[in-house]
Amino acid sequence: MGYQKNDLVTVRIEDMGQNGEGIGKADGYTLFVKDTVIGDVIRAKVIKAKKNYGYGRLMEILTPSENRVEPRCPVARQCGGCQLQMLDYREQLRYKENKVKNDLQRIGGFENPPMEPIIGMEDPWRYRNKAQFPIGYDREGNLVAGFYAGRTHTIIPCKDCLLGAPENRPVLEGVLDWMRENRIPAYDEADGRGLVRHVLVRRGFSTGEMIVCLVINGAELPAPERLVSRLKKIKGMAGITFSSNTARTNVILGDNVSTVWGRPYITDCIGPVKYRISPLSFYQVNPVQTKRLYETALEFAGLTGSETVWDLYCGIGTISLFLARQAGKVYGVEIVPQAIEDARRNAAENGIENAEFYVGKAEEVLPGYYARYEQEHGEKAHADVIVVDPPRKGCEESLLETMVQMQPERIVYVSCDPATLARDLKYLCGRGYELRRVRPADMFPMTVHVETVVLMSRVKD
Ligand code: SAH
Repeated sequence: MGYQKNDLVTVRIEDMGQNGEGIGKADGYTLFVKDTVIGDVIRAKVIKAKKNYGYGRLMEILTPSENRVEPRCPVARQCGGCQLQMLDYREQLRYKENKVKNDLQRIGGFENPPMEPIIGMEDPWRYRNKAQFPIGYDREGNLVAGFYAGRTHTIIPCKDCLLGAPENRPVLEGVLDWMRENRIPAYDEADGRGLVRHVLVRRGFSTGEMIVCLVINGAELPAPERLVSRLKKIKGMAGITFSSNTARTNVILGDNVSTVWGRPYITDCIGPVKYRISPLSFYQVNPVQTKRLYETALEFAGLTGSETVWDLYCGIGTISLFLARQAGKVYGVEIVPQAIEDARRNAAENGIENAEFYVGKAEEVLPGYYARYEQEHGEKAHADVIVVDPPRKGCEESLLETMVQMQPERIVYVSCDPATLARDLKYLCGRGYELRRVRPADMFPMTVHVETVVLMSRVKD
């Protein structure tokens, strides 16, 4: 039996999907319902009906699951950024472990992947060192800062996200007051007018340093001294900057950053290494878990001090410098030029001399290096260990192919998307590598996202 739009259905949630949505069955009809967890018995209204499945909106929880908890954030459901806030943290960890395992089985074809327990957090709140708040107007026309309501462009006012630093609030209040005082309009996506688009805040947890970047739809920041006088009083403020982005796109930052006060970067330490981070560079958002993630990558790399290591998708050289202290030579490759500038400076400031960095696409730089090396040296370039940490879309096949040709003993794959991880591991396993260790890490508590560190080793011939 099928259902139709607007039908009210009672279902028991029995599973959870890729995006954290609950999945229930009513008379053999599958219903996907956001904001529910396994074990809930609920009333849902059908909002979209297909022949064999449909989507429902949660109307009422008849019997809550024993794993359901009260979300701490008052806008958790509207915001949609925390898909799992109503699920007990231990169950969140279980869900993520399963997600990784399922993808490795289903997509990677690994029948029994060598799973190790997920690295969870002791205190899974206020872990983010970066926040980006869109600025706009509410229905009454009041200036607001907050978050986009799940998949829409309506701003839910919220100055204190419970995943972020409490210092974000005075920054946003300062910016909004400055806008009101100087009649500076927020950007309007619909017509491309107005000025202030986003406020980005980055904080070094180990140093307390903070940097603010206003993204504006224009070339100049009006009344900068008034903004500075409001914001520089905030504890830890190290720099006030703006980035001009006049394109009508969803991309937040422009490709430039200008400093109006202080300096255009913060510093932060992860373990023994100190890093400089510019607004345009990628930096892991959860420093507590990042340290554990890098330690795991270091352990998997199995370095003894003499190895040649490639760190592909290296960002500001975080993993490269972590590994360099125990390797012979480390090569880092990254597409964002500002990040490579940071990486080189970070190496110098930490007294690390055995790291070299290249700007470019990993899938072009490594194959290019490999081909040139053979021409120049008459032998194949070799690596002992290759580390990759790609964005969600994973690695290009041309890169994986060169990696295999370089015959590293070990490949350490750091992944933020289990599905593309599974796809890439399948490729490598068909070409002389075997899956040895799989360790998920919870870098993003309360959300459905999961990070994984994997060790593959070369099968001896
Ligand atoms: N390992 C780093 C960064 C990981 S994030 C860390 O832990 O901090 C992924 C990085 O890959 C980003 O810095 C992004 O700019 C970069 N990137 C994206 N596509 C790329 C490509 N095709 N080649 C090289 N780097 C790329």
